[in-house]
Amino acid sequence: MAQTASGSKADVVVSLESIEKSFGDTEVLHDISLSVRRGEVVAIIGPSGSGKSTFLRCATLLETFERGSLSYGDLEVVQSGVDGRAVYAGKTVQREAKSRFGLVFQNFNLFPHYSVLRNVADAPIRVQKRDKAEAERQARAVLAKMGLAGKEDMVPCELSGGQQQRVAIARALALNPDILYFDEPTSALDPELTQEVLRVIRDLAAEHMTMVIVTHEMSFARDVADRIVFMADGYVVEEGAPDQVINNPQHERTKAFLAKYE
Ligand code: ADP
Ligand code: MG
Repeated sequence: MAQTASGSKADVVVSLESIEKSFGDTEVLHDISLSVRRGEVVAIIGPSGSGKSTFLRCATLLETFERGSLSYGDLEVVQSGVDGRAVYAGKTVQREAKSRFGLVFQNFNLFPHYSVLRNVADAPIRVQKRDKAEAERQARAVLAKMGLAGKEDMVPCELSGGQQQRVAIARALALNPDILYFDEPTSALDPELTQEVLRVIRDLAAEHMTMVIVTHEMSFARDVADRIVFMADGYVVEEGAPDQVINNPQHERTKAFLAKYE
């Protein structure tokens, strides 16, 4: 992939501009913008109910938003039309956009009756129409990288929560996405299992995988993120370098939130 000067448009993997989203009469995202460059790790923090999941769901086309725009690289998925109203591109563009990201949820969402290997290799084979042997070879390699060599023939319920989440990460990686989104990937896990999942995400960060991570793990966010976004009540209250946001927050709301983690 051609590299251009850092910060140039060609380097932007995803760009969301002025997103507004309502459920019924209640607006839950107010003018949210986020743009992520290749290799960047962004952590989104904030109290429960602040709109973090809804924002990720909008970015990944699981929810529609009413105003604003969304693009993946040069692919304009949602354009801001008259009065900023969101105009969605057709199915082909949306499908292409969906092939550019992977998503890891809190609750793993594995297929319970598929083997670990099939959980990882199924979408590459069926959706991406890749050669079965090649896709399975890559799936084994990604599983090994997640510390799961030897578990290929097990089913998810035979694994610990931490192992299941690492299968979910392997599944997302097997589709060779440009960017990975994580929505509280360790919230369902005990502390020891949390650490093993955070470790593989740290390894991905060290390899410059582009990631957006919603997390309540503040020390992890500080270590791994290039940028922290603090959301509250559907607004981005504050964002910046981890050191700035976590160690020297400017807004009262951010200070009050972080005080709970000290
Ligand atoms: P967070 O992930 O930061 O905890 P959410 O994005 O889940 O926040 O929720 C943001 C707001 O949107 C909350 O007030 C929540 O109740 C509301 N909300 C989320 N999903 C729905 C939905 N499907 N229908 C109605 N309201 C929703
Ligand atoms: Mg959430």
